Amino acid sequence: MRRQYIIISVVCWFALVAASAIWNISQIQSTHQQADVQVAQSFFEMIVTVREWNAQHGGVYVPVSDLIQPNPYLKVPDRDIHLPNGVMLTKVNPAFMTRLIAELAEKGNQIRFHITSLKPINPGNAADVWETQALTSFETDALSESYHWDDQSHVFTYMAPLVTQSSCLKCHEQQGYKVGDIRGGISVSFRSKPVTIWPVLLSHTLIALVGMAAISVFGHQLTRAFADLERLSQIDSLTQIHNRRYFDMYLHREFLRSRRQELPLSVILCDVDYFKSYNDIYGHQAGDSCLRQIAAALTDTMKRPGDLVARYGGEEFVIVLPETSAAGAVAIAELVRAKIETLNISHKGSQVSNHVTISLGVASSCGELKEEVLLERADQSLYQAKHAGRNMVVGAAMARTV
Ligand code: GH3
Ligand code: MG
Ligand code: MG
Repeated sequence: MRRQYIIISVVCWFALVAASAIWNISQIQSTHQQADVQVAQSFFEMIVTVREWNAQHGGVYVPVSDLIQPNPYLKVPDRDIHLPNGVMLTKVNPAFMTRLIAELAEKGNQIRFHITSLKPINPGNAADVWETQALTSFETDALSESYHWDDQSHVFTYMAPLVTQSSCLKCHEQQGYKVGDIRGGISVSFRSKPVTIWPVLLSHTLIALVGMAAISVFGHQLTRAFADLERLSQIDSLTQIHNRRYFDMYLHREFLRSRRQELPLSVILCDVDYFKSYNDIYGHQAGDSCLRQIAAALTDTMKRPGDLVARYGGEEFVIVLPETSAAGAVAIAELVRAKIETLNISHKGSQVSNHVTISLGVASSCGELKEEVLLERADQSLYQAKHAGRNMVVGAAMARTV
């Protein structure tokens, strides 16, 4: 039973530690995801600010080179300018600039920007499946951002809408856009670092094992301590046989069994004759030793495992004999009486013998007498044995013949 408590405690401990590990891992993942979103938001804001600056100036001119060729989708009259020194400048509008920055960023730090729209002027800026969903949700559900993690590639993609500013209308008014309209969006994607959960798993495994070891060690110590306490609470310290407390419990249990199964149950009360004068003559220590010898002799005389000898109190002992009839109990009482005589413990103060003797009262029942009544009858028999001269057995008549 107590072993079960230890097992239940260990299981509860493991469940607690597992719950803590799961909670910690979910916290780490959530913090990690928030960090990804914040990084992407910062990139997005930066791009929008740079685009805004570009739009405010109606685009910026850069020298045409291998890296930058005139934008074929930019249909404005002053797109290209030839300087007197032969250098050719071409206009870079916000969309073209975003693409150029995106190409540069992708080469350098593996961050990908993608300017896209549901109605792109440049077919190369067409939205992929996820971007199309995100752009649609910006328009239909008025979402301000959208993001997702690809579990296989660990790529995090963030997207937010490009809202038409007044500076955008210079070029986009002819497409029918007004200030506040969503013109498209920019997606930002980068590889999200995998979440490191092994330190949490390792530390929680250690905590779980240390806790389990502690529960198991202390649990076994407690179990042993409880067992010792239980044993001590049932044993008489002087004679080392069962005490009154245990006897009460045992008699009640046997009474219930005897009533249930209609089996005989007998009780013998034993009292040492003239024990007060034994103490007076030989001293209290010798009296204690005498009680120990009597207890051991009584225990020795018992034959069946169910027979119980207990110290009833003072110099009185009690014997419980389950499944034993009145005649059988009287016979055992007689054996006990004779056994004490054979101990031959000298007793000058006794008026019935020159050695220690005991008187015994026997009572039996077949479940019809409550245990208090049974004991009372045994006590009455003992009283009769004392009055009839001591060193003898008296049996009470049974309420029902067994
Ligand atoms: P009776 O024959 O009528 O039983 O006389 P008795 O002297 O045995 O009975 P009484 O009740 O007058 O005295 C019982 C004595 O038992 C008194 C007490 O000192 C002694 N006694 C009770 N418990 C202990 C014990 O633990 N150790 C010792 N040494 N003596 C005890
Ligand atoms: Mg007595
Ligand atoms: Mg006595």
